[in-house]
Amino acid sequence: MTISLIAKQIGQSATLKLNSTAAAMQAKGEPVIHLGGGEPKSKAPLDAVLQAAAMLRSAEVRYTPPDGTAALKKAIIRYTEEWYGKTVTPKHVMASSGAKQALMVALQTILDPNDEVIFPTPYWVSYPDMAKLVGAIPVPVRPADGSFTPSVQDIERAVSSNTKAVILNSPNNPSGAVYPKSVVADIVQFCEARGLYLIMDDIYHRLIFGGGRPVNCCEFAKDHSESSKLIIINGVSKQYAMTGFRIGWAVANKNIIEVMTNIQGHQTSGPSALLQHAAVGAITGVQSCVESLRTTLENNRNIMMQQLRSFKGVRIIEPGGTFYCFPDFSAYEKDSVKLAERLLDKAQVVTVPGKEFGLDGHLRLSYCGTIGDVKTGIERIKWVLDPDSPSELTIGERRVVRDWT
Ligand code: PMP
Repeated sequence: MTISLIAKQIGQSATLKLNSTAAAMQAKGEPVIHLGGGEPKSKAPLDAVLQAAAMLRSAEVRYTPPDGTAALKKAIIRYTEEWYGKTVTPKHVMASSGAKQALMVALQTILDPNDEVIFPTPYWVSYPDMAKLVGAIPVPVRPADGSFTPSVQDIERAVSSNTKAVILNSPNNPSGAVYPKSVVADIVQFCEARGLYLIMDDIYHRLIFGGGRPVNCCEFAKDHSESSKLIIINGVSKQYAMTGFRIGWAVANKNIIEVMTNIQGHQTSGPSALLQHAAVGAITGVQSCVESLRTTLENNRNIMMQQLRSFKGVRIIEPGGTFYCFPDFSAYEKDSVKLAERLLDKAQVVTVPGKEFGLDGHLRLSYCGTIGDVKTGIERIKWVLDPDSPSELTIGERRVVRDWT
């Protein structure tokens, strides 16, 4: 069998693979704790469910315009006004089947083969493969100060004559880092000055801890014309706990949106009518679910931090948002793939190796499950790694003996 040169470069999504592994183990009745997940456990907002149910009951679920229904675009326009202080028209908005597709279509729109796209390390697993899918070259850049927050100098260091775009994701998956206003301001202005596209992946922007409004990239942009190269990506997956609904969107200048719509029209004819309807319900409905999710996550984050601080060998930068943290476990094991395998094997805890996010020695741990998951999961990890642990632990209904040092 022959496959294309591009296809040969594409690996399986590490996080989706882990979800299947965890689900298969759970289906066998094994006492797995899934700290590798990327979705809130709360239910979808009632407004979303009622809207979708009403449409389904009508038994009329048809094609929509490829860039989304008028109602969803209107909801996104209002959302953009509220969170970005930016007045846009339907021509500046495209709805997609998830933020993932909005990102992918944006890259297909702006990148040529061998163009370079810069993003800070640690990065979301899909960015490198998405860039490769369009024949472009991913350029991850590690913050020089060893933190999870890039500076404009880090980005500048990575720029070459082939650089076409920068992707920023704050709050960040996997680190939970929330980039300060000054960093976003500097990078927005740098990209404008250098004529680079800047893709702001804002999928977690309302899931920040300690109060305050999310940083708004539009505040720092000088160019608000149809030449602006700022592309905002957002969606309902995380903030409304609607991952399975697969609705995201892009906001950009009219020309970019027009081309993105042409591409998406050929790929999928646009997102599902039913789920767009649900997304309208979520965006225009009662918003208390977002605050409730945010406070639950903050509480879970605090519990996880407290437990992780009791490890002698773990170094942590406290996450300021999302539902992930990205501790450094290299004092125990430098190879994060081996470490994640060991934790799954010895203690049935699913974690994601930092290597998948460009930083070995770390693990991504999610606190989007229950408090019980967080507490038991970290307890089990500590039992495996800490040489002072008791010799036995109960996992599910089994007593397990610690026969390693
Ligand atoms: N960007 C980031 C940083 C993400 O973590 C995710 C989901 N894991 C996405 C985009 C895609 O979100 P969606 O479910 O809307 O496709």
